[in-house]
Amino acid sequence: MTQDGEYLRISDLVKHFEPRRQLFQSSPPVIRAVNGVNLTVLKGETLGLVGESGCGKTTTGRLILRLLQPTSGAIHLAGVNVLEYDREGLKEYRKRVQAVFQDPWGSLNPRMTAEQLIADGIEIHGLHLGKAKRERVKELMETVGIPSDNLQKYPHEFSGGQRQRVGIARALAVDPEFIVCDEPVSALDVSVQAQIINLLERLQQELGLTYIFIAHDLAVVRHISDRVAVMYLGKIVELCGCDELFSDPQHPYTQALLSAVPVPDPEHRKSRIVLKGDVPTPANIPSGCPFHSRCPHVMDRCRHDVPVLSDTGGDHFVSCWLHDEDGP
Ligand code: SF4
Repeated sequence: MTQDGEYLRISDLVKHFEPRRQLFQSSPPVIRAVNGVNLTVLKGETLGLVGESGCGKTTTGRLILRLLQPTSGAIHLAGVNVLEYDREGLKEYRKRVQAVFQDPWGSLNPRMTAEQLIADGIEIHGLHLGKAKRERVKELMETVGIPSDNLQKYPHEFSGGQRQRVGIARALAVDPEFIVCDEPVSALDVSVQAQIINLLERLQQELGLTYIFIAHDLAVVRHISDRVAVMYLGKIVELCGCDELFSDPQHPYTQALLSAVPVPDPEHRKSRIVLKGDVPTPANIPSGCPFHSRCPHVMDRCRHDVPVLSDTGGDHFVSCWLHDEDGP
């Protein structure tokens, strides 16, 4: 079943990594990084993807970008399964779907000037030549707020925020429709974070872009997202509108995550839910509900029955037996 305005659909996406066996060692356990993710992204929206480190959100982003090959599952973009693309199809997909990464320092080649970095995709896809290419690069630099007389600068000559702007200009150079933003502001100072978020929002409005915004900072996600998906141990455990998630979180894991977010109001007191134990390793995911070893509401059935993500009303999806329509 498709949703109105559906642009990207991820179905039962799985990515398992099999670590290499060392000499004289037994086979190491499989790392179950992504474990059956189902998700849709609507045209023109920003879908926030949140969860603690190691929950599989970055792997999910890389699978969407086709930087990793999934173990199983499907990814449909505008109705076409992108896992079945041939070489030409993949090239076209990489034009439509771009990325902005966390570390602009690491994702930009230090030996290339801003002009070369931004022009790279334009050349690969043969979009502009000669003078027109340079004019397009200048235009992109101005669009992201860098004066175009910085064309010949190298990454180390820019500040962290400017480097991220170059990274965004590079992504925009091929006229994408969809951008996977993987922790795009977490390496930046707070004041610069706001500027980059505002830039991403403006570009989305002007260019009609669709975003997946991967982050662990809930305040940032709340600011930019239309809907939010919460991940835990390779699965989506809750998915709904952003305001709804922050006003009425229903999954015990989301409730614990949100209870740790500071509220800028001294009158407003809330008690923090402290989860027991550490996040289990994706090499040894608990049976039943993957959250059961830490859940304050755990019941017997949680230990052996896997809950499914179901609509609890108003497109608010939760994967928890407490919200089972037949009762907990
Ligand atoms: Fe907690 Fe059970 Fe719900 Fe899992 S299914 S979140 S263990 S109550």
